[in-house]
Amino acid sequence: MHSNKIKKVVIAGGGTAGWVAAAALSKQLGKLIDVTLVESDQIGTVGVGEATIPPMRVFHSLLGIDEQEFMRATEATFKLGISFKNWGQIGDQYFHPFGTTGQGSFLAEFQHFYLHGKSRGVNSPFSEYCLEAQAAKSNKFATSKTNSINYAYHLDATRYAHYLRKFSEARGLVRIEGKIQHVQQHANNDIKALILESGQIIEGDLFIDCTGFLALLIEKTLKIGYEDWTHWLPCDSAIPVQTASVGPAVPYVTCTAHSAGWQWHIPLQHRVGNGLVYCSEFMSDDDAKQTLLKNINGKTLTEPRTIKYKTGRRKAFWSNNCIALGLSSGFVEPLESTSIYLFMNGIVRLMKMFPFNGINPELIAEYNKQSIDEIENVRDFIILHYHVTTRDDSEFWRYCKNMSIPDSLSHRIEMFKENATVFLNDREMFRLESWTHVMFGQGITPRSYHAIFSTMADTELTAHLANIRSTIASVVNKLPNHAEFVQHYCKAVE
Ligand SMILES: Cc1cc2nc3c(=O)[nH]c(=O)nc-3n(C[C@H](O)[C@H](O)[C@H](O)COP(=O)(O)OP(=O)(O)OC[C@H]3O[C@@H](n4cnc5c(N)ncnc54)[C@H](O)[C@@H]3O)c2cc1C
Repeated sequence: MHSNKIKKVVIAGGGTAGWVAAAALSKQLGKLIDVTLVESDQIGTVGVGEATIPPMRVFHSLLGIDEQEFMRATEATFKLGISFKNWGQIGDQYFHPFGTTGQGSFLAEFQHFYLHGKSRGVNSPFSEYCLEAQAAKSNKFATSKTNSINYAYHLDATRYAHYLRKFSEARGLVRIEGKIQHVQQHANNDIKALILESGQIIEGDLFIDCTGFLALLIEKTLKIGYEDWTHWLPCDSAIPVQTASVGPAVPYVTCTAHSAGWQWHIPLQHRVGNGLVYCSEFMSDDDAKQTLLKNINGKTLTEPRTIKYKTGRRKAFWSNNCIALGLSSGFVEPLESTSIYLFMNGIVRLMKMFPFNGINPELIAEYNKQSIDEIENVRDFIILHYHVTTRDDSEFWRYCKNMSIPDSLSHRIEMFKENATVFLNDREMFRLESWTHVMFGQGITPRSYHAIFSTMADTELTAHLANIRSTIASVVNKLPNHAEFVQHYCKAVE
């Protein structure tokens, strides 16, 4: 197939995906390859994407990014998890934290222990066994060498792209401003060059498509095809709007379910990101806008705008000499803030497999397999939130409750319902506890659980559970307030 050495990489698009790719390539492979990024101010970026998940910190450490500098530049705050409201039933609330929960044994994870406790009258919620959930509940946070709090960030997406641009250009990346008008191909369909409106020709050996929903290279040029997941995730629209803060930033996202979708609330240092994700079959754009505006606090800072999308993925993420990253590769709604990390993982995967001496079909197949496994695990986790509901108050929720789901997810739900068993597939982004918190939180009560803890005496079991809760409570007690910690932590050093 392809035998040419790869010396010149061209990134098409400068949204978060383009600049994440640029930062990683320029930092890690900048001495081996030339990297150019083309973006068009005329087209702009999607400009949303403000909540993240903890593995982002691993990516930042790979780049050698200083956390305080990054937080100052992006007006970031810390995120300990997500507060879900009205998902199981109207009036319900549960928390999906990032940290470990309780302490299990070699044979059975903590949820089995917890269920034994419940059967013997210990009724404290599952979240009381998780430091991150309790810290979030009290609006507390600190990073330190002595606590092992697991966290991610809320950040300003536009500032993050600017930050990564500066980072990349300092490491030799060449940025070209201009609109791509035409994509030139070789006889074997490989991409040869991007032709800009100005007439400039940008040739390359390997192209990374970060052109967002337009998918200029992977779809418009290579016509790879799209796998549509609307049947399982029927929301197809979003309206973001920014508001002024009305109180100190809390260390978590709030996702509140409405009659045909849900609303996010993401607190940053300087403002709040809000938005409504909804299904246009069950809610009109006007109703969605009214629902959103009725449920926000604080003065609006931007005009609400409607974004339309189709949930799913490209049939392949890598085809010929083109790799799609970000929205060009597919989209799963931001309920668990997974998009940014999906393309961070994508670029790391590409760098690990980098085809210095030429592209071969095995490499492409392996890259695609890993990327598809990863996004399908995310897809199943998101469907879980919708499907496992007892809401019956609208057509939308009745649809979600009764729709068919992927076999891979139905197997997981049945395993949990039957015996409280939770397991991870290869290339899962979330921990076991994430699945457990969401399944408990949405109201699943397993029919049985592992018997290993039944040999413990009541007093021993109760004392053990009480000890976990009180240890967490005493750590939380000593933590500073989140907003104060952020202010102190982000103060510029003179
Ligand atoms: C409503 C919503 C909320 C989201 N929330 C989250 C979240 O909380 N957490 C999370 O992880 N992710 C979230 N995401 C996803 C996240 O926003 C995106 O994954 C991320 O912004 C990456 O976008 P992108 O860079 O792929 O595309 P874009 O931001 O659309 O960038 C596309 C780039 O391509 C350029 N381009 C396009 N066509 C041309 C052309 N012809 N010539 C030159 N340049 C061109 C544009 O100028 C732009 O620079 C959300 C997405 C949506 C829609």
